[in-house]
Amino acid sequence: MEFAQTDKVKELQAKAFDFLNELVIPAEPVYAQQEHEIGPWDTPPIIEDLKIEARARGLWNLFLPAIGLTNLEYAQIAEITGRSPWIMPEAMNCSAPDTGNMEVLHHFATPAVKDKWLPQLLDGKIRSVYSMTEPAVASSDANNIATRIYQEKGGFRIQGTKWWSSGAMSPNCKIAIVLGVTNPDGEKHKTQSMIAVPLDTPGVKILRSTGVFGESDGGHGGHAVIHYDDVWVPEDHLLGELHGGFAIGQARLGPGRIHHAMRLIGMAERAFDLMCERAKSRVAFGKTVAEQGVFQDWVAEARIKIEMVRLLVLKTAWLMDTVGNRGAAVEISAIKVAAPEMAAWVIDHAIQTFGGMGVSQDTPLARMYGQARMLRLADGPDEVHKMALARRELKRYTGK
Ligand SMILES: Cc1cc2nc3c(=O)[nH]c(=O)nc-3n(C[C@H](O)[C@H](O)[C@H](O)COP(=O)(O)OP(=O)(O)OC[C@H]3O[C@@H](n4cnc5c(N)ncnc54)[C@H](O)[C@@H]3O)c2cc1C
Repeated sequence: MEFAQTDKVKELQAKAFDFLNELVIPAEPVYAQQEHEIGPWDTPPIIEDLKIEARARGLWNLFLPAIGLTNLEYAQIAEITGRSPWIMPEAMNCSAPDTGNMEVLHHFATPAVKDKWLPQLLDGKIRSVYSMTEPAVASSDANNIATRIYQEKGGFRIQGTKWWSSGAMSPNCKIAIVLGVTNPDGEKHKTQSMIAVPLDTPGVKILRSTGVFGESDGGHGGHAVIHYDDVWVPEDHLLGELHGGFAIGQARLGPGRIHHAMRLIGMAERAFDLMCERAKSRVAFGKTVAEQGVFQDWVAEARIKIEMVRLLVLKTAWLMDTVGNRGAAVEISAIKVAAPEMAAWVIDHAIQTFGGMGVSQDTPLARMYGQARMLRLADGPDEVHKMALARRELKRYTGK
């Protein structure tokens, strides 16, 4: 394994830290205020100012393989963006679900669809949604997906209801990538297709948004319940091969999972900084909180957990670069479980260190905790990743 930092990474890391400290962290209260003022679903305007600045500083679309960063290199930049998770990734056009959607459009869209939507996404002008999960079925098992996509009249007709379609409440969100069944009697993993659906297509009904721990996640465009009611799109909107949707979904989620893991390390580092600074300055029962043995135990545990997960993420990124996503499957599942668990633990202890303030809006901790916790579900629950990991491990013992 080779984790040495390249000069390119060192330079980008320095730029990313400058951007974070000079502009992003100071923008957090402005973002919160604007979120409050502009209504639930618009993106706070400060994000547009930050996008201009990120672009000027060479911090734009860094997730794109075409930019030339390996997964290992990008990991070390994405970690920094996780320190302000609802502002910095979007300001650098590196946020979910757009990154995964852009990759799907790049690899699988027809030239007409790609030319219409990809440049606008790469330019940060619009946002996109990934519409897979459904309220009526256990969607952690993708084989359960029930939305139907019928081929007819030179196009496809879509019928079904999705939820947790993140970002779709935003007026800026223009295109959905929808997974549905095209071949119900086909062999396993050959029953579904993926299709691009512009959100202004007749029949796309955005019904409501589901919140996360009482937060609307508004600046991010909420999490929409969408009813696709006899929605018709032309046949060139099919992504990849007919009945090949499952494979695209798998390809899409590999890098997505590692990006989340990288950002979670950044979240944990920010929580760690906040907790240590607070403990050094807060005096209770005659000494600082930092001088209490129990707090020192938390600091040690937090540092051990962060370093272990960071090494696992770097190893996973290195494997993805050297043997491909399939060769890194065990590690991708492992970090998808380990990173949110670690971050939630560190953030939880930072909240405890702050006392009542920790659960308030006066630190980013409560919101970060919500993000870390929900990432034990989004992109597949822990139990499903553990099942996949265990199956791969047990395969090695076949015949023994
Ligand atoms: C904030 C947020 C954002 C999201 N964004 C998106 C998005 O943009 N697009 C999208 O399509 N989806 C999105 N999702 C949905 C997410 O991917 C699903 O919630 C997740 O895959 C689980 O599916 P489900 O909710 O149907 O749970 P279910 O499939 O009903 O599973 C419920 C529980 O059953 C248990 N379980 C399931 N399988 C097993 C097993 N094999 N062994 C043991 N236990 C098991 C697990 O504990 C699991 O949590 C988002 C979710 C959240 C919370």
